[in-house]
Amino acid sequence: MIDTFKHKGARERLANSLPKKGITDENVIQAIRTIPRHWFVESALNDSAYEDRALPIAENQTISQPYTVAFQTQLLDLKPGMKILEIGTGSGYQCAILCQMGMKVYTVELNRKLFEKARSVLAELDCSPAAMLCGDGSLGWEKYQPYDRILVTAACPDIPEALRRQLGNGGKLVLPLGNLDIQEMCIVTKKSAHEFDIQRLDTFKFVPLKGKHGFS
Ligand code: SAH
Repeated sequence: MIDTFKHKGARERLANSLPKKGITDENVIQAIRTIPRHWFVESALNDSAYEDRALPIAENQTISQPYTVAFQTQLLDLKPGMKILEIGTGSGYQCAILCQMGMKVYTVELNRKLFEKARSVLAELDCSPAAMLCGDGSLGWEKYQPYDRILVTAACPDIPEALRRQLGNGGKLVLPLGNLDIQEMCIVTKKSAHEFDIQRLDTFKFVPLKGKHGFS
């Protein structure tokens, strides 16, 4: 795949527009500036890839708006080398941003087609997560727990129990919590095994989390 001057220029403008919207983490902005988002969308949408909006991907799903990716990533409050579990790989774009920032990423996607596609784009980008799973992320991913951070990129009806459990003490879970129409971005901090602090922020609209502890 190619990355033209036109794409680079548009990407630079997108990255530079983020501070005005409240993104202050320079590492996040630098990752947005680096990762070619147009590789993660259908080629017909290449020219829209650097507009700050969500775009359709296959299987009726969406690649999140760049601002939303930047916002969730900033909320994670990352330090290089952290172990992150991402639920909802989708296109793989958010995963690439986290890998670019030096994180050890474990990512789970329910949809087989999206999973395969994301895997091949990430391999081509040379931006590989620690491990990828095609399965129900509402159950977390037991094998590699505990995680320093967990990020859910689909709307959750409540906080999945497995995610609470698989988060390490002092860890943070960022997820959109609400109904199918609207969700509040939440930061759940694990104080101890059974003590969680929940901070509720702005509202968003994500595609639904499916599976055992999702909407269906
Ligand atoms: N982070 C993605 C955006 C994902 S959209 C990106 O950067 O492109 C939400 C994704 O969550 C969809 O791909 C959907 O298939 C997936 N999903 C929904 N329910 C899931 C579940 N229970 N486990 C894993 N993935 C799920």
